[in-house]
Parts: sequence; C-alpha cells; structure tokens
Amino acid sequence: EPELSGHFGQLMEWADSCRTMNVRTNADTPRDAAVAVGFGAEGIGLCRTEHMFFNEDRIPSVRRMILSKTKEQREKYLAELLPMQKEDFMGIYKAMKDLPVTVRLLDPPLHEFLPTEPEDIEALAGDMDMSMDEMMSTIHGLEEFNPMLGHRGCRLAVTFPEIAVMQTRAIMEAAIEVKKEDGYNIVPEIMIPLIGMKEELDYVENVVRETAEKIKVEKGSDIDYKVGTMMEIPRATLIADEIAERAEFFSFGTNDLTQMTYGFSRDDAGKFIGEYKEKGILPNDPFQSIDVNGVGKLVEMGVKLGRSTKPDLKIGVCGEHGGDPKSIHFFQRAGLNYVSCSPYRVPIARLAAAQAALEIKEK
Ligand code: PEP
Ligand code: MG
Repeated sequence: EPELSGHFGQLMEWADSCRTMNVRTNADTPRDAAVAVGFGAEGIGLCRTEHMFFNEDRIPSVRRMILSKTKEQREKYLAELLPMQKEDFMGIYKAMKDLPVTVRLLDPPLHEFLPTEPEDIEALAGDMDMSMDEMMSTIHGLEEFNPMLGHRGCRLAVTFPEIAVMQTRAIMEAAIEVKKEDGYNIVPEIMIPLIGMKEELDYVENVVRETAEKIKVEKGSDIDYKVGTMMEIPRATLIADEIAERAEFFSFGTNDLTQMTYGFSRDDAGKFIGEYKEKGILPNDPFQSIDVNGVGKLVEMGVKLGRSTKPDLKIGVCGEHGGDPKSIHFFQRAGLNYVSCSPYRVPIARLAAAQAALEIKEK
C-alpha cells in the first residue's frame, strides 16, 4: 500500500494542521479503502454497493431476485446474497479500523441487472419456473426509457423494501462482528440515495431503523448507527429543513445534482460539452468543477436550510467534485464538514482543503 513519507509526508502534515474540513474517500473494496487510508483518508464518505452485485457468483441470485414475482421469492434470493454482502462490509470495516464508514443503499438503474444473452434468459426461465413469454414480459416490464431518472436509489427501497432490509442487516451484523473480533468501535452510517421528498425518507428510514433495532436485540448489541441521506435531487435541497428533521447527516451527490440542475444527462453530456467549452458557452465542465452560480447555490441552500433545523448537522460531499481543488474551495466557503473523493485524489484534497481554510482565515 502506498504511504506518504519524506518531504511529501511532511508537507501533508503541515497541510493537515491548517485544514478544518475532513477528507474522506469513496471506496467500495477493502483494497481501495486501504490505499486511501495510506494516502491519509479519514473515513469512507461513500461506499457504493452496486458493484458488489455484479460479481459472477452473485449476479444469478441478483437476477432471480429482481425477476421474482413475490416478496417471498425475493427474500429467498436476498438470503443467498446476505452472507456475501456481510463479508463485503466486514472487509471494509477492517481496512478502516475505527474510522467512520458511510454505506449507501443500492442505487443502480435496475435494468443494469437484467439478463441480455438469450441462453441466460432461457436458463433463468427454466430455474424460475416461468415460460419464455412470461420471462420476456417480466424483463420488458423492468426496462426503462430514462433509467437515470427512473427506478433507482430510494425508489428501489420503496418498491422492494426487502433489499434495504438485507443491506441493513449486512451493514449492522458486519459491524457487530468486527467489533467482537477486532475491537473496532464501528458506527455505521447508512445513507439513502436519491431522496427528493421527505415522505420517501420517512418510509425508507423506518425500514432501516426497524431492521437495525431488531438486529441489535437479536445480537444483544448496543452498537450505535446513523441514518442519513444523499442530497442530489434539486428538490431535496429546497426542502432540506424538512429532510433534516429525519436525516442525521447529508452528503451532496454533486454528480446527480449537476445532471438534474442543468438537465444534462450524465451519460450523454460528453457529446456536447466539448463544443460548449469551445464556443465559450461553458467555461468548465460542470461535472468536473462545481458550477458555483447554479448548482453551488443549491448546495448553499441545502446547508443553510439543513442547519436551520439541526445546527450541528454533519454535511459532506461525495460527488466527483469532492476531489477537485477549485470545488473544494467552494465547499469550504459553503461550510461543509468533509469532502470525499477517490483514493488517489486524497492527497490533493488534503492540500486544497488546507489552502481553502487559509484563504478564509486571511479574509
Ligand atoms: C453523485 O450523484 O454525486 C454520487 C456521488 O452518486 P453516484 O455518482 O453514484 O450517482
Ligand atoms: Mg448519485
């Protein structure tokens, strides 16, 4: 694992003594987590759980689960996934030791899990006791025209709460077990993606809390945990005071927030942004560097409204912008507690956070 040593390590220590924002990392494997800790990450700000479901050993259960007709069937396949998901989190907690870990509930467009190869579809139909016609119509029923604005994030937890139950169980049981085995005091931070309405948060948070409390009783554990939300839909930033009544922390998802504020598809914006820059319509790619005049205003509003409800509300950012120096200056001014970025950007984020803190002090 990389370590920062010598003059560079010294420089980093000086930077750390100046900064006020924490620097966390986005990591979804123990390896990435360890690399980031070597670079000085102070926690995981975003552990995405979607990649964990694409693994060769798991995709068959995942497909059967989403194609199931009943909750009971889905629960059966989720039970197959639970031990694997629990191991994922145990590996990550162990790599992070006592540092905070934010795990986000599943957030892929669902269609990404659908089988496409005819032989896979045929085999699934056989296993699941469906005719080919029935299987094809189930698959078509899950296909989406606009998946980025579709059935993803908390919407999945609303339609299939049993997925959130399984993930909460894995997050909590893993923390309890690692505490027992290694003595690390883990306080899992469970993060709900794509919240746009307080009512969505009410619903999903209840599912998460009920499950977590049940597990604490089952295991005789008094482990603590937090439930918070992504801030990545413009509407969420407009009602952040209401959302903060429920959420114990916010994390700005500036990738989606940029997509939805500009109305630029994350998947397609690459086709015209270059031209926009050349013609002077956009100075920068807003997906790389925060758009202070537009998206940034929503961030500021979210912070202000959120803290009007909870003055100490912990707020971070985990979009791409969390590792971009210019954006980090903006997040400092907006009053965020931490930025979270990919492991290899952690050192630059530590430096940028130090510069940003000094800049404010000098004013
Ligand atoms: C975001 O939207 O900024 C974010 C961090 O989530 P994802 O990129 O996984 O949608
Ligand atoms: Mg997002």
